[in-house]
Amino acid sequence: MAILVTGGAGYIGSVATELLLAAGERVVVLDNLSRGHRAAVAPGAEFIEGDTRDRALLQALFGRHDIDTIMHFAAFALVGESVEHPALYFENNVNGTHTLLNAAVDAGVKRVIFSSTCATYGFPDRIPLTEELPTRPINPYGLSKRMVEEILEWYAKAYDFRYVALRYFNACGATEVHGEDHEPETHLIPNVFRAITGEGGPLKVFGDDYATPDGTCIRDYVHVTDLIDAHIRSVRYLREGGMSDYFNLGTETGNSVLEVIRAVERVTGGAVPYAFAARRPGDADRLVASSAKAREVLGWQPRKRDIEVVVNDAWRWHQAHPGGYGD
Ligand code: UDP
Repeated sequence: MAILVTGGAGYIGSVATELLLAAGERVVVLDNLSRGHRAAVAPGAEFIEGDTRDRALLQALFGRHDIDTIMHFAAFALVGESVEHPALYFENNVNGTHTLLNAAVDAGVKRVIFSSTCATYGFPDRIPLTEELPTRPINPYGLSKRMVEEILEWYAKAYDFRYVALRYFNACGATEVHGEDHEPETHLIPNVFRAITGEGGPLKVFGDDYATPDGTCIRDYVHVTDLIDAHIRSVRYLREGGMSDYFNLGTETGNSVLEVIRAVERVTGGAVPYAFAARRPGDADRLVASSAKAREVLGWQPRKRDIEVVVNDAWRWHQAHPGGYGD
């Protein structure tokens, strides 16, 4: 019995693989390496280089391995790119997942943990965000994830499987061995590091006139090991007969862009060069999770809730891996 981790060479999937192995699970990783790194796949996992749209490969994979649960991370995840190239997102994220689910249903796989996002909500009517808020995605990335959620809903009604869709807020942090290495890098914390080390120019802070106390956007930064802890709890929940459901994963505290910059300065002892720039299209003023449901149903409690702890882990990884995974 094994867990299939799609996207296991990517940032969050690599940490999932590491922590699943540590929890004693057998892990098969499927990744096409279009954005991931071969070196990010933990040596204890079986690695298969391939694509979620390759039905024949999936059939062979499910035939060869007794897959108990799928953790599905493989997807494109850049909001800006999705607006410029929506076709990429519907093709990879929706069509890829649809093909994966069809192969899984055929093979009799009973459980799916789906990597979703708070971008399914769009601009929320209220903060903190709870799961019953309406989903009104405002970009193709968020819509592609919502479309998969809807496919999951109908498939779970018709076929014999159950799912948990986990809506992440801002994933960040690192373990000793696995961290964030994207090219191009668009995320705030790695970009602050690039500014402070001189690898990039000064950080561009997108917008200074949001409706927040310091004018910069507020986000809920959740440590990647806490995210994966919620995935492992979701596997247990489904194995014990839990019903298909959605859970928001965030720390329930918000930090502004300027607060993140200050946290990086405290951790590194350096000064972050930055300049204010125009707003980035599609950025909401404030996105902070309510994770009450994950707490109650999954018993999840994020442990690394302090932004300095998160930044410290990410910084340690960045320093130990100056060129990322080196590819
Ligand atoms: N941000 C910024 N400069 C950067 C990258 C991000 O000011 O170089 C801001 C961005 O506008 C948002 C917050 O930092 O308010 C978090 O952005 P990120 O891309 O990390 O995550 P998102 O919230 O888009 O998922």
